[in-house]
Amino acid sequence: MTSKKITSVTAFETLDSRGNPTVSVHLSLEGGACGTASVPSGASTGEGEAYERRDGDTARYFGKGTQTVCRDIEETISPAIRNFDASAQRKLDEKLIELDGSKNKHNLGANAILAVSLAAARAAANAYEMPLYRYLGGIYGAKRFPCPMMNVLNGGRHADNNIDIQEFMIVPVGASSFAEAVRIGCEIYHTLGSLLKRGGLSSAVGDEGGFAPNLQSDEDAIEFLLEAIRTAGYDTETVKISLDVAASEWAKGNAYQLPKRKIKRSAKELTEQFDGYLERYPILSIEDPLGENDEEGWKYITEKLGKKTLLVGDDLFVTNTSRLAAGIEKDLANAILIKPNQVGTLTETLDTIHLAQQNGYAPIISHRSGETADTFISDIALAVGAPYLKAGAPARGERVAKYNRLLKIAHTL
Ligand code: PGA
Ligand code: ZN
Repeated sequence: MTSKKITSVTAFETLDSRGNPTVSVHLSLEGGACGTASVPSGASTGEGEAYERRDGDTARYFGKGTQTVCRDIEETISPAIRNFDASAQRKLDEKLIELDGSKNKHNLGANAILAVSLAAARAAANAYEMPLYRYLGGIYGAKRFPCPMMNVLNGGRHADNNIDIQEFMIVPVGASSFAEAVRIGCEIYHTLGSLLKRGGLSSAVGDEGGFAPNLQSDEDAIEFLLEAIRTAGYDTETVKISLDVAASEWAKGNAYQLPKRKIKRSAKELTEQFDGYLERYPILSIEDPLGENDEEGWKYITEKLGKKTLLVGDDLFVTNTSRLAAGIEKDLANAILIKPNQVGTLTETLDTIHLAQQNGYAPIISHRSGETADTFISDIALAVGAPYLKAGAPARGERVAKYNRLLKIAHTL
């Protein structure tokens, strides 16, 4: 068997899909195999996320450069993990965490650590001559394909319209295969684009490929989506709607203020508002319906709506095992968004997914709004049998790459 000892790690400052610098790593093994990885970057980040390190030198990329981050990968991380077995992922990740030495990866940066962690897994998979999902998931690694959650309509802080909710997604739950789910999602997306043009509304797309037309309210946005689903020839048994409220952005004191309509709401009132949506609309899940620090509110909404829909903790859990454990203990939410760069190593990401699965919390594997062409999350989704993959609209290369990765695997199986 070819040696999986790490011989060299090189790091580069590359660009994400917003044209901001990010970190890419190339990691080589003694036996000749190698692996690369690039990390994404969020915009509406949770307070509890691991630290994304940048140069801070305002003469370059407005301070967002990653040259010192890459330098530390080559000068600090690389010599410390030389001769480590790349297939001993847990041991390697523990070493990276120890090298950093801080609670939230503040010293080396979660972006540096994650890039090395993921590149090592790819290199080891290559050394075993296995596709990544099989290496990560073992012989049952492809038992179930995730259903795509496609963000096609945007509001909140990320759009210049009257919609308060950040993301409206279509989820073709009734599709008979992954390829069919992708096709249905694309047909609805294009139908939505045509309806917008016909109505004289903007069909320009945002960071995740979704439209941001000037609609009057959240209900208008949902109605518009329903019209697109119907016009494309589907019903709401086949295609559900998911929302990402991103309500941490709405928090004001110990209540909330809707960012566009400027209305004040308590957690209880928001719960009633969402309950109304659940009565009227085919909603599969609501992500971050309340803010990341509103434990009492989360407890209340889970009690009221947890049997009717998936309540997804994104900012609430930030892919962190102990935050999820605390949430399970207190009955907060019933599903979790998984973003590897919120926590910073592959091992911690998989630990959080397993904890979620053991406790009946659905793991939804997710991209970030600033992405790269790296498709690692697609392989994670398949390897762990996650029910959903949230990777944006079926538009823009970095989003489509995630869906294409699974289309290609589906074809080979
Ligand atoms: P991001 O957020 O901009 O932090 O990636 C997307 C989300 O809230 O899910
Ligand atoms: Zn979110």
